[in-house]
Amino acid sequence: MKILTVADEESRYLWDYYDDSIFEDVDFIISAGDLKAKFLSFLTTVSRKPVFYVPGNHDHKYLTDPPYGCENLDDQIFFQNGVRMLGLGGSYRYKHGPFQYTEKEMRKKLRRLKVMIRQFDGIDILVTHAPAKGNGDGDDLCHRGFEVFNEFIQEYKPSYMIHGHQHLTYNVQSKRIIAVDRTIILNAFNYHFVDYKSNNYVYPKLSGLAKFWNTIRFYQKYSGTEVIKQYRAYKAFKKAESN
Ligand SMILES: [Zn+2]
Repeated sequence: MKILTVADEESRYLWDYYDDSIFEDVDFIISAGDLKAKFLSFLTTVSRKPVFYVPGNHDHKYLTDPPYGCENLDDQIFFQNGVRMLGLGGSYRYKHGPFQYTEKEMRKKLRRLKVMIRQFDGIDILVTHAPAKGNGDGDDLCHRGFEVFNEFIQEYKPSYMIHGHQHLTYNVQSKRIIAVDRTIILNAFNYHFVDYKSNNYVYPKLSGLAKFWNTIRFYQKYSGTEVIKQYRAYKAFKKAESN
């Protein structure tokens, strides 16, 4: 499976020099933020591939004019091509404005999603705008990474964490890819193709009463929302796989 990832800078290769063949074997597209809405709409329209995005700290325009035809991954799980994706947009808070969080606020944002993550038995791709602390982040407040993303990697061991925000051009020592434990951390700056491979980690499933209560809470919290649809698709996929 091939995923096109984009972030931070609208790639001229993809936009100005558009060619159908670029997207031929791409299954879907992930944006890690700070990209013009019309660029993402362009990508999904011309490639006819789904685009999933999280907002970056510069994407306040998404609030009134979101990327047309694209799926907002922020605080949401989407199930695509057998892969569970969770999005946590925004950066470290450095001034007033939307899509910025303190460490405490990001932790809270994630805590609220635990029931959802549990119900999906874990996550394959974590999509964020900001990096994880000490893993491809910057020294200034704005580009500081979140410690809670490292904790997420330790607990859920996703196959990938895809982020942006820290431009690879800021520093010659910046790395496109960092491996942490079983997770590949990828900085999607500009654009990068991912030849997706699962690390085959299986998050311990809930059983008995814990599973029962999680299911009840999940339906109470998300009844009538997109995530229920995604969950049904995930369950159907798992059932077909086991047959
Ligand atoms: Zn940013």
